[in-house]
Amino acid sequence: MNIDFSKEELEFQQQVRQWFTDNLPADLKEKNRVGLSLSKEEIVGWQKKLNEKGWLAITWPEEYGGPGWTPTQRYIFDMERARAGAPVGISMGIVMLGPVLQAFGTQEQKDRYLPRILSCEDWWCQGYSEPGAGSDLASLKTEMVADGDEYVINGAKIWTTYAHYANWCFCLVRTNKEVKKQAGISFVLIPMDAPGITVRPIVSIDGEHHLNEVFFDDVRVPKENLVGQEGQGWTVAKYLLTHERTTIAGVADSKVTLQGIKEMAAKTIANDRPLSQHESLELKIAETEIDLLALEYTNFRTLAATAAGKGPGAESSILKINGTEIQQALSELMVDLAAYQAAPFNTESAMGPPEFKQSLARYNFLRASTIYGGSHEIQKNVITKMILGLS
Ligand SMILES: Cc1cc2nc3c(=O)[nH]c(=O)nc-3n(C[C@H](O)[C@H](O)[C@H](O)COP(=O)(O)OP(=O)(O)OC[C@H]3O[C@@H](n4cnc5c(N)ncnc54)[C@H](O)[C@@H]3O)c2cc1C
Repeated sequence: MNIDFSKEELEFQQQVRQWFTDNLPADLKEKNRVGLSLSKEEIVGWQKKLNEKGWLAITWPEEYGGPGWTPTQRYIFDMERARAGAPVGISMGIVMLGPVLQAFGTQEQKDRYLPRILSCEDWWCQGYSEPGAGSDLASLKTEMVADGDEYVINGAKIWTTYAHYANWCFCLVRTNKEVKKQAGISFVLIPMDAPGITVRPIVSIDGEHHLNEVFFDDVRVPKENLVGQEGQGWTVAKYLLTHERTTIAGVADSKVTLQGIKEMAAKTIANDRPLSQHESLELKIAETEIDLLALEYTNFRTLAATAAGKGPGAESSILKINGTEIQQALSELMVDLAAYQAAPFNTESAMGPPEFKQSLARYNFLRASTIYGGSHEIQKNVITKMILGLS
């Protein structure tokens, strides 16, 4: 495996680096650095700027408005994004729905929705999980029944990230109860302002409102909102879940976070010496750095396979497990550094560095990283079956 970039790739790297230097607003960079949530307006404003450059939907082919980059270019872009301190984009429209419509949508659906994802006119949320259907998603019960030219939807979704920002939801619904449960699922697009939709907030352990419950009571959508065929929803959902994601491991952001932690440890004094010289912390930082290096090389191998036309399959489960465990370890290190200043009720923390103030909220929220996008246990089941060949 050759991990050196070519001359052209190095030039590309310089071009990307310069663009971020010239275009990333300082306040956005600072909020992202210390772990403060961005407002909807800030996220949309930044994404619009990327879109003007043609760099918003980096995995999309040129025919749909993407840059048509190679996997290596995407990797370089993500490294430079993290290095510059720019936020990761909101994935639901760009990473999830876009590729689904490109593969399964009608021409009308592509023409209508793809440009609006790029221009950020539409904010999509993902309506998959239900109170009784998370890991066992195929058990979902939200029902969709045909009525003339329309469908009528009844049921409830949960953990719907940013449903309160979204004006559209892509949803998995049950259209047939008589067949094998996977075969009775369909994929449908629902406008969030349709009569009969109620969004109820869930405040998570970091004290923020990212998540929601969404209720559908006799919600009507035209039949043209179905993506693929009735009963094809499971195939569509699987395509979406295994869709190529070279950034799933979060290596770029973890490298930047680790560097920040090392710098903080070197300048934070406890018992007359920098924390970086306290053996227990030194060891913890070194262990996390080794794990991160190993993950980076696993990511390189996946990248090389993708560049050779063999898209990542079950390997993405390894990246997800290790990547999220490292994110959790880094958030724990930041709390270790902050010590009592991490306590949000401690007024003295107002005098400490801003990243200390956010550290406990971030630590708490990242406990969910080994649950969302498929829990650790489910990823391990995938590895057991698909990589180890056990059943
Ligand atoms: C922050 C956050 C954001 C989210 N955003 C969205 C979103 O935008 N849209 C959306 O649709 N969903 C979203 N989710 C939901 C997420 O996909 C589910 O939480 C996840 O799939 C787990 O499902 P569950 O919560 O129902 O847990 P359960 O499936 O009930 O699992 C409970 C526990 O049992 C374990 N378990 C379950 N089945 C097995 C098995 N077969 N073998 C071994 N262990 C098993 C699980 O690993 C877990 O530890 C989000 C979740 C979180 C936490």
